[in-house]
Amino acid sequence: MSKFFFLWLLGNSSLLFSQEVSKKRVVEVLSHLASDEMKGREIGTPENETAALYIAQKFAENKLDYCVGHSYLVPFNYRGKIVYNVCAIKKGKSEKTLAFSAHFDHIGISDNPRDQVFNGADDNASGVTAMIGLADYFKTKEPDFSLMFIAFNGEEKGMKGSKAIVEIPDLQTKHQNIAALFNFEMVATVSQFGPNALYMTGDEFSDVDELFNAQSINNLKIQPDPHIGQQLFYRSDNVSFVKKKIIAHSLSTVDMTKAKHYHQLNDDLEIVDFDNLTEIINNFGKTIEKLNPQNFAPKYTDKVSFE
Ligand SMILES: [Zn+2]
Repeated sequence: MSKFFFLWLLGNSSLLFSQEVSKKRVVEVLSHLASDEMKGREIGTPENETAALYIAQKFAENKLDYCVGHSYLVPFNYRGKIVYNVCAIKKGKSEKTLAFSAHFDHIGISDNPRDQVFNGADDNASGVTAMIGLADYFKTKEPDFSLMFIAFNGEEKGMKGSKAIVEIPDLQTKHQNIAALFNFEMVATVSQFGPNALYMTGDEFSDVDELFNAQSINNLKIQPDPHIGQQLFYRSDNVSFVKKKIIAHSLSTVDMTKAKHYHQLNDDLEIVDFDNLTEIINNFGKTIEKLNPQNFAPKYTDKVSFE
């Protein structure tokens, strides 16, 4: 190898070794979370804890730091039981942080004798897979922003996990460093805007979408909230952070006017478009890689309500 070629290789090492998240990995993670063995991941069940441990294991594979204490598992009390959110950090060049979240709990089992498990492939194994996929994407990278990854528990029972973790005293400094939180909620299908696109709830409340789209790679687009009357911005885990005046939106692909699988037994692997989800994860990662505290400092507009 010539010296020059070697130097060229060094200079392009990020290119050579850049790890895209494979469709195989996306299928593996989503299928595991949505498997019958997880019994619908309802908060308070042993299978919900198994899911939390699985997510923690994925964080460990990426050598992420703990958010607080000596574990990725962040406990809180639910009806007299200890249950867990799962939280990890990848330190970047700045303390300023981008947070990626998704709820991992679902609604458990039904008494239908033909199919007893609410697998929740879209709601929200897909969102957790996107979040884990982004952690995978940054495994060997050194981003400008620090990155925080949070899997919320108990969303289906009233957003219990996000309400709990936002109040943890030892996390307040880290929360205050969040420039924006992206909460993935049902991203398994191709959106009504076409492939390679997500919509953002409450897009009129901040300039997150404009700033993101200005840097976006491979034409990934964050589209405006098509279900504005449904107030989705205030109905998902992001709102726990909104109440602390932290910029936080949910991102989704589901068409709420047409979807027939929401909280149904047919929310299973058949409805997942793995090609589209893999493309979104990689393009999201590539775009996040371009963001820094200078080109991405979103602000709320005065339309938002913090109550
Ligand atoms: Zn959900």
